Amino acid sequence: MITLSNVRKEYNSDVAIGPVNLEIPSGGITALVGPNGAGKSTLLTMIGRLLGMDSGDIKVAQYDITTTKSKDLAKILSILRQENHFITKLTVRQLVGFGRFPYSHGRLTAEDEEIISRYIDFLHLTDLEDRYLDQLSGGQRQRAYVAMVLCQETDYVLLDEPLNNLDIAHSVEMMKHLQSAAQEFGRTIIVVLHDINFAARYADYICAVKAGKIVEFGSPEEVMRDDILTDIFNTPVQVIDGPHGLIAVYH
Ligand code: ADP
Ligand code: MG
Repeated sequence: MITLSNVRKEYNSDVAIGPVNLEIPSGGITALVGPNGAGKSTLLTMIGRLLGMDSGDIKVAQYDITTTKSKDLAKILSILRQENHFITKLTVRQLVGFGRFPYSHGRLTAEDEEIISRYIDFLHLTDLEDRYLDQLSGGQRQRAYVAMVLCQETDYVLLDEPLNNLDIAHSVEMMKHLQSAAQEFGRTIIVVLHDINFAARYADYICAVKAGKIVEFGSPEEVMRDDILTDIFNTPVQVIDGPHGLIAVYH
């Protein structure tokens, strides 16, 4: 479980995120959704301790993130940021290998190599493992980053818009990978998604963020309602019952 208590970030006198009180259960996929600028990345990077909070507490499992040592936290929680400034002269395999850093500190063991291969394979990157990052499409590079984060083998995995740069087929594939990472490896995945319909289809919980506050938290069935989505996205939204579950339609 991840617990946020009275978490606040004040960027300046005009922009403040919080106070946020939130409990994200262990297991499955929790999708953070909401309009641009709502505060999703701010919350995710504070949980991942890449951004300091101005007040409040965040606990990941039993660990208070402000007092837990980085090297210990890195074995519990991994994060993929929205923007990645990649080093072009790095191969896919080298990048994924960075996920082992908290364990190997740069000296990869035979076991590390095995784990790296497993995640390269899991993200269907085996044929591309020796390619440099600047020789990949945006979607392939995105998969390499996700492989790196999963390779860290942490119980909690935070991903900020991992479907960026992916077409529909690869987005579906990515969400299925995340589902199996949650189900087969027992990971707790918190993912910022742009598309509410991907959240409805693949997430176990939807957490809606609006203007720096959590406005809804619940199962897709609980959150996928005309009035709720219309309010969150500030535009008329209708929810219809599709062949695979609820679908939001904008008009
Ligand atoms: P989201 O990920 O939901 O699009 P963000 O968390 O990136 O939203 O941003 C939330 C708000 O905080 C926005 O109004 C954004 O402009 C502002 N913001 C984000 N980062 C900074 C920063 N470093 N300095 C000042 N304001 C920021
Ligand atoms: Mg963002």
